[in-house]
Amino acid sequence: MTATSPDKPLLKLEGLRKVFLTDQVETHALSDIHMEIREGEFVSIAGPSGCGKSTLLSIIGLLDTPTAGAYTLSGHPVERLKALERARIRNREIGFIFQSFNLIGDLTVFENIELPLVYRGLPASERRQCVLDALEEVDMAHRLNHLPGQLSGGQQQRVAVARAVAGRPSLLLADEPTGNLDSINGEAVMKLLQQLHHRGATICMVTHDARFAGAADRTIHLFDGRIRE
Ligand code: ADP
Ligand code: MG
Repeated sequence: MTATSPDKPLLKLEGLRKVFLTDQVETHALSDIHMEIREGEFVSIAGPSGCGKSTLLSIIGLLDTPTAGAYTLSGHPVERLKALERARIRNREIGFIFQSFNLIGDLTVFENIELPLVYRGLPASERRQCVLDALEEVDMAHRLNHLPGQLSGGQQQRVAVARAVAGRPSLLLADEPTGNLDSINGEAVMKLLQQLHHRGATICMVTHDARFAGAADRTIHLFDGRIRE
């Protein structure tokens, strides 16, 4: 992770709303969201299924856009970014970890972690070093030539964590990273996220497992698209 200064806000959401329109039905997925995450914080977002957690994370990760409201990321007003700048910031500043790992099945562990660095235009020798360092960090260096299907769920998620951190993003986003894992593997992945946090990573994690929400410095509770105080 890049060096952090504890009190600086990395991101700020003000009056954020998201409305989905499908077949004449309006779903108010997020309403009047105000929140801030400072550099170096580990924040969890908790709440029941359907309350808007993934929608919020997708907007924070620049994968989706809000219907209304302001989002400031590292001092940039996100709504004013052009598509190319958004893609560039997403690739460089944000690392994603998903519930279902989302590894590419016909690429090796090494190639999966390398791919976002290829898009970034890093030379091969630098890519190799970043991939090997990330694999060491998650204790998976001995599996670099395996395909995802040859690994257990817990191992696949560790590879997904390596992919997310290999490019040294300023923000790590995890959407129910333990949701598809048994409790032992779930705890191992949580321990890994805590280690990354102690080394300076800023993490925003969605979970509906209260045990894991407690691993964070602070929990934001969502209910029906709104933050519950
Ligand atoms: P959570 O992650 O907390 O389970 P989501 O953010 O996935 O919740 O969904 C919040 C609400 O928005 C739900 O009612 C869901 O059905 C709706 N929703 C999410 N994505 C879409 C979409 N692409 N189109 C229409 N409705 C959506
Ligand atoms: Mg979700």
